[in-house]
Amino acid sequence: MTEHIPVQKNDEIELQIDDLSHDAYGVGRFQGYALFVKDALPGEVIKAKVLKTKKNFGYAKLLALLEPSTTRMAPPCPLYAKCGGCQLQHMAYSEQLKFKEKLVCSNLERIGGIDLSDVQFHPIMGMAEPWRYRNKTQVPIGEEEGGLIGGFYRDRSHDIIDMKQCLIQHELHDQVVQAVKTIGSRLGIPAYHEASHSGFLRHVVAKYGFETNQLMIVLVTNGEKFPAKEGLIAALTTRFPNLKSIVQNINTKQTNVIFGEQSKVLWGEPYIYDTIGNIRFAISARSFFQVNPVQTKLLYDTTLKFADLQGDETVIDAYCGIGTISLFLAQEAKQVYGVEVVAEAVEDAKRNAMLNNMTNVRFVTGKAEEILPGWTGEGIEADVIVVDPPRKGCDPALLDTILDIEPKRIVYVSCNPATLARDLKMLADDGRYQLKQVHPVDMFPQTVHIECVTLLQRKTI
Ligand code: SAH
Repeated sequence: MTEHIPVQKNDEIELQIDDLSHDAYGVGRFQGYALFVKDALPGEVIKAKVLKTKKNFGYAKLLALLEPSTTRMAPPCPLYAKCGGCQLQHMAYSEQLKFKEKLVCSNLERIGGIDLSDVQFHPIMGMAEPWRYRNKTQVPIGEEEGGLIGGFYRDRSHDIIDMKQCLIQHELHDQVVQAVKTIGSRLGIPAYHEASHSGFLRHVVAKYGFETNQLMIVLVTNGEKFPAKEGLIAALTTRFPNLKSIVQNINTKQTNVIFGEQSKVLWGEPYIYDTIGNIRFAISARSFFQVNPVQTKLLYDTTLKFADLQGDETVIDAYCGIGTISLFLAQEAKQVYGVEVVAEAVEDAKRNAMLNNMTNVRFVTGKAEEILPGWTGEGIEADVIVVDPPRKGCDPALLDTILDIEPKRIVYVSCNPATLARDLKMLADDGRYQLKQVHPVDMFPQTVHIECVTLLQRKTI
């Protein structure tokens, strides 16, 4: 029997919005049939046009607000509707935080089967000023009659929309992109054309150390020979007195991947530096560094607090990246072992350990699920294990190994509440561990992304 779908494509209907989906679409029911509507908010009555129907749910477009929510905000960015970068600018920041907190709870309960009445759930840490927080920008460059343009890709296309400012970027990044456009146009530096795979300047990447005030500009180019290089360097170094590094990255491949294999320093240093807490980090053109330094400090402080180190512990940091969490932990542990699959990141991690004169950390390249069993074989006994996996969560083999190692505490740092909940369930189902604390951190205001630190503790028998 086919279910009755009460609407058809292109129907215009009145809809009451009751809820938000995980990607912050408003959810309303039309004669029981769920419709997802971008930019609609709970409590609103809207006029909507049906875009697509599936068996159990459909999508509709917001046409008009018949009864707007009191929490609705006018998005401050004029390009909000066209750019896919932010998803929550139409929501008051306090509502964004509530949305994220609720989503973490519902994932833990529904997917994780966790009874939150036994767990200390801390209110999400938001930002006092939830704008201009990013320390890294990467902008594709194109060309129009007036010269170079740069901005973002129109939804589902690779047409570049020119952008003067991005409100979640540090102001300096807007100035850098603008300067490269103006100076590059004046010097006749050609932009790259994706369709014909011709032209030169592909992307401008800017990185900024919030604590050190050091700026790096990376120019990604299709080819090595840089036209008007000297003029560009002279103009940029004059324009930005805090510029420490200009790097050319060469990417001649026909690809969506921004960076190519080869980088060369055009001017200045190969690195800029920044600090988080007491730890100093070297940031190269391609190395990964958390994009919101203010909230990263809170995230790592919470991780350290949950690890509850007394000074004599052995700690494993799985998925360690450039060793940021490992070095934070090493301040209070006897010995830290970090594992990371990207060899370049491990090189950065080792350099960062030296930079901070830390000798009680060891970094290894490889998959966490393959390296940890070897460490157990070597007789390494971890008291605390920290994991900070990518969105897809931990490999089940790693979770098994963690259970074999049986540390006192497991601190799980997550950027995806759904996989967090799935993995916590697997760890908790074993019976020896109990979820004790959950603390969400808003690392990416105006967007749907959610970061969380959680603590699992081995039960005492
Ligand atoms: N803790 C770091 C980075 C976390 S991002 C920080 O806060 O900066 C997740 C990291 O896991 C990435 O660096 C990614 O390269 C790495 N990674 C992905 N799969 C992995 C695996 N199977 N084993 C080890 N590391 C992995």
